Amino acid sequence: MKKKISKTEAKEQIENFFENINEKSPKEIKKIKRLAMKYNISLKEKRKLFCKNCLSPHKNPSIRIKNGFIRINCGNCDYTSKWKIK
Ligand SMILES: [Zn+2]
Repeated sequence: MKKKISKTEAKEQIENFFENINEKSPKEIKKIKRLAMKYNISLKEKRKLFCKNCLSPHKNPSIRIKNGFIRINCGNCDYTSKWKIK
Protein backbone atom coordinates (compact mmCIF):
# COMPACT_ATOMS: atom_id res chain seq x y z
CA MET A 1 0.00 0.00 0.00
CA LYS A 2 1.91 3.00 -1.24
CA LYS A 3 -0.81 5.60 -1.32
CA LYS A 4 -2.15 6.76 2.00
CA ILE A 5 -5.92 6.73 2.24
CA SER A 6 -8.32 7.87 4.89
CA LYS A 7 -10.26 5.49 7.08
CA THR A 8 -13.45 6.38 5.21
CA GLU A 9 -11.80 5.49 1.91
CA ALA A 10 -10.50 2.27 3.35
CA LYS A 11 -14.02 1.41 4.49
CA GLU A 12 -15.36 2.11 1.02
CA GLN A 13 -12.73 -0.12 -0.52
CA ILE A 14 -13.69 -2.90 1.82
CA GLU A 15 -17.41 -2.47 1.10
CA ASN A 16 -16.77 -2.60 -2.64
CA PHE A 17 -14.54 -5.59 -2.23
CA PHE A 18 -17.14 -7.65 -0.44
CA GLU A 19 -19.81 -6.90 -3.02
CA ASN A 20 -17.98 -9.23 -5.39
CA ILE A 21 -16.51 -11.52 -2.79
CA ASN A 22 -17.19 -14.66 -4.84
CA GLU A 23 -14.83 -13.47 -7.54
CA LYS A 24 -11.98 -12.81 -5.17
CA SER A 25 -8.98 -14.98 -4.54
CA PRO A 26 -7.64 -15.92 -1.11
CA LYS A 27 -4.70 -13.65 -1.82
CA GLU A 28 -6.97 -10.66 -2.31
CA ILE A 29 -8.96 -11.52 0.78
CA LYS A 30 -5.75 -11.62 2.76
CA LYS A 31 -4.91 -8.17 1.45
CA ILE A 32 -8.26 -6.67 2.35
CA LYS A 33 -8.07 -8.23 5.80
CA ARG A 34 -4.72 -6.55 6.28
CA LEU A 35 -6.18 -3.25 5.12
CA ALA A 36 -9.03 -3.58 7.59
CA MET A 37 -6.62 -4.36 10.38
CA LYS A 38 -4.38 -1.44 9.50
CA TYR A 39 -7.29 0.96 9.71
CA ASN A 40 -8.82 -0.77 12.69
CA ILE A 41 -11.98 -1.55 10.75
CA SER A 42 -14.07 -4.44 11.96
CA LEU A 43 -15.30 -6.77 9.23
CA LYS A 44 -18.13 -8.03 11.43
CA GLU A 45 -20.70 -9.88 9.30
CA LYS A 46 -18.35 -9.91 6.33
CA ARG A 47 -16.09 -12.34 8.08
CA LYS A 48 -18.76 -14.96 7.47
CA LEU A 49 -18.38 -14.60 3.74
CA PHE A 50 -15.05 -16.35 3.52
CA CYS A 51 -13.27 -19.25 5.17
CA LYS A 52 -10.98 -18.08 7.93
CA ASN A 53 -8.74 -21.07 7.43
CA CYS A 54 -7.92 -20.92 3.72
CA LEU A 55 -9.45 -17.48 3.02
CA SER A 56 -11.54 -18.75 0.09
CA PRO A 57 -14.92 -17.13 -0.39
CA HIS A 58 -17.83 -19.39 0.51
CA LYS A 59 -19.28 -19.93 -2.94
CA ASN A 60 -21.62 -22.82 -2.37
CA PRO A 61 -21.57 -23.14 1.35
CA SER A 62 -23.28 -26.01 3.04
CA ILE A 63 -24.92 -24.32 5.97
CA ARG A 64 -26.14 -26.25 8.96
CA ILE A 65 -27.85 -24.88 11.99
CA LYS A 66 -27.50 -26.76 15.23
CA ASN A 67 -27.91 -25.85 18.89
CA GLY A 68 -28.05 -22.14 18.13
CA PHE A 69 -24.92 -22.26 16.02
CA ILE A 70 -24.56 -21.78 12.31
CA ARG A 71 -21.94 -23.99 10.73
CA ILE A 72 -20.52 -23.48 7.30
CA ASN A 73 -18.33 -26.07 5.73
CA CYS A 74 -15.66 -24.71 3.43
CA GLY A 75 -15.84 -26.40 0.03
CA ASN A 76 -12.16 -25.80 -0.46
CA CYS A 77 -10.40 -26.97 2.68
CA ASP A 78 -13.27 -28.59 4.60
CA TYR A 79 -12.79 -26.27 7.55
CA THR A 80 -15.96 -25.67 9.55
CA SER A 81 -16.67 -22.11 10.56
CA LYS A 82 -19.31 -21.60 13.20
CA TRP A 83 -20.86 -18.75 15.02
CA LYS A 84 -23.72 -18.14 17.35
CA ILE A 85 -27.09 -17.07 16.04
CA LYS A 86 -28.11 -13.79 17.58
ZN1 LIG B 1 -11.38 -23.11 3.67
